Amino acid sequence: MARVLTGIQSSGRPHLGNILGAIIPAIELSRNPQNESFFFIADLHSLTTLKDGAERQNFVQAIAATWLAFGFDYEQNTFWRQSRIQEHTELAWYLNCFTPFPMLANATSFKEKSEKLSDVNAGLFTYPVLQAADILLYNAHIIPVGKDQKQHLEMTKDIGSRFNQLAGSDLFVLPEPQIDDRIMTIPGIDGQKMSKSYHNYIDIFQPENELKKITKKIVSDSTPLDEPKDPDSDITFKLFSLLASESDVATMRENYLKGGYGYGHAKQALFECMLEKFAEPRRIFNYYMENTAELEHILTQGEIKARAIAQQTISKVRQVLGFGS
Ligand code: ATP
Ligand code: MG
Repeated sequence: MARVLTGIQSSGRPHLGNILGAIIPAIELSRNPQNESFFFIADLHSLTTLKDGAERQNFVQAIAATWLAFGFDYEQNTFWRQSRIQEHTELAWYLNCFTPFPMLANATSFKEKSEKLSDVNAGLFTYPVLQAADILLYNAHIIPVGKDQKQHLEMTKDIGSRFNQLAGSDLFVLPEPQIDDRIMTIPGIDGQKMSKSYHNYIDIFQPENELKKITKKIVSDSTPLDEPKDPDSDITFKLFSLLASESDVATMRENYLKGGYGYGHAKQALFECMLEKFAEPRRIFNYYMENTAELEHILTQGEIKARAIAQQTISKVRQVLGFGS
């Protein structure tokens, strides 16, 4: 049995990038009977960028509802909130002491986030260490994530193997990232990586009129309606090509190239495509957001399973480090 593990931060509602880059591929992996899946909500990580507790709680619910909306089988697998299992933070401290400072200082995502965000706190800096704790705590083998997380996973392997070496044990399983090369980093409406914290995302669960509004805001160049357009440099086309059928994508490409087809037309087609493709997930998502007690129950059950494993690992770590078990 291979253990598959992945998490989404509760720093906002999940967006198209999270869904295509992480949630759908992870759920596919979880359907393989050879795998045992551990999917969690990284609410501790979200504290690096989000300080409002009520908002966090709402985002946690939205993320849980999204996993369920896309068909995650929480009964066969393990589904929990990171903050409810204290072993995540305990292990993160131990691992901090096995992490070379320059490794964190050179992390691309820290550099990118610290340029864009006004609050550059120490949590943001040690983010990859908490992530390493999330993974190593459960002896996970396969980590399905988007390309933006590749470097963080290399750091997890590095930190885990340093621990194994320095502490003279083979306690931690060193995981492999699983990045589907067909899935790129999904661009946001401004063309940068779609990110909750950059506020450039498409939330497919919004009411129709809001979804339409945000689709209209996707950045495009100023080529006039009549003139041919380059599909390969256009964000709307990129997003459409990730969602629509091959033949619909081919037709849109021809329309771009021949001219007389405006970005407004393409945005309307993308909007309709999202409504059609995500009709069922939208229905399930709304159901859970109206029945949050059910979500709470599902997560609490998952936490019992997660805690049992986390406690076993932390007890071994404490022994190795001379803290008692
Ligand atoms: P934040 O801005 O707070 O970092 P985020 O939008 O980057 O949030 P995360 O919770 O950091 O989302 O990432 C959750 C998962 O979604 C990870 O596996 C990550 O690789 C994937 N992911 C995030 N953004 C994208 C994107 N634009 N394209 C593809 N995958 C993505
Ligand atoms: Mg991120």
